[in-house]
Amino acid sequence: MILREEEGIYLSVLSLQNSSDKASILPILQVLSDLLSVGTDRRIYYMINKGGSEALLQTLVDTSRSASPDWDILLPLFRLLAKVGLRDKKFGQKALELEALDVTLILARKNLSHSQNLLHCLWALRVFASSVTTGAMLGINGAMELLFKVISPYTRKHTRTIRAATEVLAALLKSKSNSRRAVNRGYVNSLLRLHQDWHSRDVTNTYLIIRHGLLLCLRHIVALRSGREAFLAAQGMETFFNIAQTCLENKNMELVISAVIQILRQCYPVSRLPLVTVSSAYTFTAPGSTSPELPHHLTEEDFDDDGDEEMDKDSDVEAVKEDDDLETDMSKLSSKPGRELPEEDLAQYDAMCLELSCNFEELEPKYGDDLNIKDNLHANHHHIPSAASLRQHCLIREHNSWEQEREDSVHTSILHMVKTGKSNVQPSSKLRSATNVNQSIQQNGLGRASSGHDTSEIQPPSEQAAWDIEAISCPRITASFSNSTKSEESNEGTEKLLHTHPKHTPFHDPHLYMANATRTRSVVGFKTMAFPDLWGHCSPPTAQPMLDRKLGIQRIKILEDVRRFLQPSDVINKVVFNLDEPWPLQGSISNCLRFYSEFESGNLRKAIQVREFEYDLLVNADVNSSQHQQWFYFKVSGMRAAVPYRFNIINCEKPNSQFNYGMQPTMYSVKEALLGRPAWIRTGSEICYYKNHYRQNAATMDGASGKRYYTLTFAVTFPHDEDACYLAYHYPYTYSTLMTHLEILERSIDHRKVYFRHDVICQTLGGNPCPLVTITAFPESNSAEHLEQFRCRPYQVITARVHPGESNASWVMKGTLEFLVSSDPVAKLLRENFVFKIIPMLNPDGVINGNHRCSLRGEDLNRQWLFPQAHLQPTIYHAKGLLHFLSSTGRGPVVFCDFHGHSQKKNVFLYGCSMKETLWQAGCTVGESALLEDVSYRTLPKILDKLAPAFTMNSCSFLVEKSRASTARVVVWREMGVSRSYTMESSYCGCNQGPYQGLQFGTGELEEMGAMYCLGLLILELKSASCSHKLLAQASTLLNAEVLEHYLQRCSSSSSNNSSNRTSEVDDEPSCMEEIDYSADSSSDSEQNFTELDRQIQECAFNKDEEEENEEGSGWRRRSVP
Ligand SMILES: [Zn+2]
Repeated sequence: MILREEEGIYLSVLSLQNSSDKASILPILQVLSDLLSVGTDRRIYYMINKGGSEALLQTLVDTSRSASPDWDILLPLFRLLAKVGLRDKKFGQKALELEALDVTLILARKNLSHSQNLLHCLWALRVFASSVTTGAMLGINGAMELLFKVISPYTRKHTRTIRAATEVLAALLKSKSNSRRAVNRGYVNSLLRLHQDWHSRDVTNTYLIIRHGLLLCLRHIVALRSGREAFLAAQGMETFFNIAQTCLENKNMELVISAVIQILRQCYPVSRLPLVTVSSAYTFTAPGSTSPELPHHLTEEDFDDDGDEEMDKDSDVEAVKEDDDLETDMSKLSSKPGRELPEEDLAQYDAMCLELSCNFEELEPKYGDDLNIKDNLHANHHHIPSAASLRQHCLIREHNSWEQEREDSVHTSILHMVKTGKSNVQPSSKLRSATNVNQSIQQNGLGRASSGHDTSEIQPPSEQAAWDIEAISCPRITASFSNSTKSEESNEGTEKLLHTHPKHTPFHDPHLYMANATRTRSVVGFKTMAFPDLWGHCSPPTAQPMLDRKLGIQRIKILEDVRRFLQPSDVINKVVFNLDEPWPLQGSISNCLRFYSEFESGNLRKAIQVREFEYDLLVNADVNSSQHQQWFYFKVSGMRAAVPYRFNIINCEKPNSQFNYGMQPTMYSVKEALLGRPAWIRTGSEICYYKNHYRQNAATMDGASGKRYYTLTFAVTFPHDEDACYLAYHYPYTYSTLMTHLEILERSIDHRKVYFRHDVICQTLGGNPCPLVTITAFPESNSAEHLEQFRCRPYQVITARVHPGESNASWVMKGTLEFLVSSDPVAKLLRENFVFKIIPMLNPDGVINGNHRCSLRGEDLNRQWLFPQAHLQPTIYHAKGLLHFLSSTGRGPVVFCDFHGHSQKKNVFLYGCSMKETLWQAGCTVGESALLEDVSYRTLPKILDKLAPAFTMNSCSFLVEKSRASTARVVVWREMGVSRSYTMESSYCGCNQGPYQGLQFGTGELEEMGAMYCLGLLILELKSASCSHKLLAQASTLLNAEVLEHYLQRCSSSSSNNSSNRTSEVDDEPSCMEEIDYSADSSSDSEQNFTELDRQIQECAFNKDEEEENEEGSGWRRRSVP
């Protein structure tokens, strides 16, 4: 059958080429039309291959050159032309070569008053114009003038031809030369007026498609700078703003509104950020350079709106390049030891691995009998001086409560949480939508006592009045509270509160925090602490659901921005906080919020009040850098309760964010904390993240042209009047918090059972000690056998927080550390069988100074693992050195894992390294050495997939990318030969699968993940061939035999099925209520119009006798073709 039809097409084309008279042409056209009107596009492509396009075009040219062209031939011919031309990518070029353009234009001109003939000419022109070159040629030959004769003001006649004319015009205007011509001839004004006329008179919205066509024309023109200028000069912004305002709610007008908004966005004049310089407000003189990089000051002359050449470099780049980025060079995929470290260099790591040399002679005695014994044991640990009696008192009390905590945790053993999650998930909570912020605050856990703590601690409201929130909320850093002098009275309030409000945050102590904060060195010497870090955070009892995105929020925000542009006098535009000019702004301004960020991890740079309850905020770039703005952490005070305040962070950098998919920022209220609910909670409504009109000057970006910025906007209704609240991108976790945590951990553990050592791996560039923690169990006794077992324990290495903005990694690490030293029997087994080497914060300086990504030198430390230098990247150099040392003694880690946070995806997942999977994915032939690669790297993620509620195998990837060649994961895999070398990514947002589906992460879920990771390591060991009988026996009595069996079996059965490929999963984002359209100039209209044009032609062919006006009534709505 198919063959016969193809034969028919072929013969028809042949005869068409040889026919010149009507009698023979007409039947051929009929046959072709019949053959092409059924079946698939395959027939049309076949015809194109056989020279069908040329034959049709030639017939057109021949027919129309006669003195009186025969429309009996031309009408069916045009329909065929359009149909075939739509599918022929070279059709425009062919038409140009066969000189079909001119004859069509002439035919159209002669038939201006004959709408049916004209319509057919327009279809042909529409198809010709789909090639930009041909379109440009048509423009030169006067096509646009012709079309303007067809496109009339509002009428109900000949609307089909008018519609076709707008579509041809839109297609022509894709050519920049046509757009330029259009601007020069004043068509912007004409189009605006035409649109306005149709818009105001087409009250029943019958001709939306024509209005849309006119908008498309404008959209192409305003892609030019001159087009935008003309649009602005013609008051286009005002006109379109009004249209959008009045029609925003009208669902039927979606097509028109989205075009209007796109034009408004495109025409909003680009401007530079309201900053003196985009370089960080903080500079650091790095070793080897004499002065910090001079910040580049922007001047007006620097600033160039690079107009026509503008490109949106962002969003898609990564996705497109993904496969190119795969490493396919076998020599770079094979294991290869890195540079050997000289013996004397390796020797320094001996001191960090005392467990290897200690002979435990005095093992038996009384560890744990005396709290202070650790001081002798762990000589290496830098101990805090000034132990005030107060603190000692505090400690003893707390030690008991920690013990209690420990007992509690035994009862809720980790195994009970496996894959069910520990969060008290209430299914109904997922359904609740935060309709109003106050209500959502109630839901969020404010207004309730936090988990498991005594509500009797809540102060009666009358006492609130006595709180000097401003003084309490940002205490000064002093040696200790009790030492505060008269000039530091502000701390007295805080100190008093600490007495009257018995502290109840597990593993936290404000006094220790204060002591640690005094030693923490920041670039500018922070003198204050953030209250939440000092006071502590208790995870709220339940996880919070993701926020439902409010429909149309992005448009509403964009229109608000446009309103600012149109009505600048309505904007207050008052700078109320500025790191660059700290005086005299703070405190001297009334009727506005007060902002502050000069504390650890804080990074607000500037706040501008734009309306009574709305602020534009700018966050600081990373130190010695002019980029990486994403993390934010600042204090705000002086608010009124129950009023929604809007915050717009206008210099974000990432092209998309989980803030568009249900994530909320976090907030900590000081008053809530004083009322017994010290907690960071997710808050904010009407959240949206979108590309704004700010652009970075090319000159400051090493020539990279005009990077665009994004706005994160959210509204917050604060719980109390005159409160001090802290807002952050994610739950903060400072360096001082870590140091406090480590100290408390060390004090809380039972030193008879847990070997815990806190060393300093090196000093950072900023002068802060970078901690290294060793956790294992003491040998059972000092018998030779037990010592031998101790010395043979394999190592596990875990690192975290190389990226300072990824505070989620620290919360996962917190969970890991607390679990490993806990009395949970699983933890005990782990300690008895492994030595854990943990670097909980690879980039302390970045964390301290509020960076998002980099070190003090402005470089991403997770791109420095190939050739780290001791004086430039000390923490990486020594972390790598330690791993080298372990490898050199044959003790390379069983598993290496670096904890990170992921801003674009949900859940928790691992990235690993596989030579074979990388080559497969890149489409390379897989050689023998790759085929021999064992699949053990997949086992741990599979185990975690079964164990951890937040974890999903689906997002894991084992590809080695060129751009990741210098990351910890790839370097440890390749240079140390660690096949299980991972990055663990935790979402900033939450989960879209498993028991936490629909919930945002709280700190509790992140900490649980850290514990689950440890359990995963144990099960991994149980599954390994080298697992000792003793451990198997211990584990099987410990782990419920059935449960264990279940997991082990499922793991092993699924691990044999290793061929499953990554990335079959699509984007993990739920579809958004509205298109998240960052680029205002995407032109996705072409394809739709093709099928639409097809439809029109088909319709016309079948109904050519009907009066056209009757048909147009259906507007642009699709109708089934008869
Ligand atoms: Zn990271």
